Amino acid sequence: MSAPPVTRAFIGLGANLGDPARAIDTACTALAALPGTELLACSRRYRSAPVGVSGQPDYLNAVAALATTLSAPALLDALLAIEARHGRTRDYRMAPRTLDLDLLLYGDARLDLPQLTVPHPRMHQRAFVLAPLAELAPQIEIPGRGRVADLLREVADQTIEALPAS
Ligand code: AMP
Repeated sequence: MSAPPVTRAFIGLGANLGDPARAIDTACTALAALPGTELLACSRRYRSAPVGVSGQPDYLNAVAALATTLSAPALLDALLAIEARHGRTRDYRMAPRTLDLDLLLYGDARLDLPQLTVPHPRMHQRAFVLAPLAELAPQIEIPGRGRVADLLREVADQTIEALPAS
């Protein structure tokens, strides 16, 4: 029997309630423990103001790179399970969150399934995704959108701050 294919996937992590730094650390540990999955790298943490809402605490964001044999839908299910273990509830759109995990990229796949769109449909507009992604994969191309470095220049007006590596 041939071995299942290994795909490089990028996960966006964000939190702005409770202890965001701890949530991101434990989420990275949980990603590393997924079946058939190796955690290749986790970016520095970035502080960003919430997009589209006011009066919420700043977010802490990061991006993780995985090598995984999980399918994209199975990986999304695993991300939702990790979120649920962190006490994530979906109270309303844009609600503050203890942990948000997004499947940003799954190899060079373009998927439009009922429960899953890849590349993540808003990732190319968000400095808090593009900056940590560019840190891990400066040459990467977002299918249908362009090179991460070029996209990052287009969102230069969004304020984010890289925190020193701990
Ligand atoms: P959110 O409230 O932004 O975390 O939305 C989560 C929901 O978006 C999930 O239940 C997914 O079914 C759906 N979704 C669609 N595409 C993606 C993606 N690329 N990554 C994460 N969630 C996605």
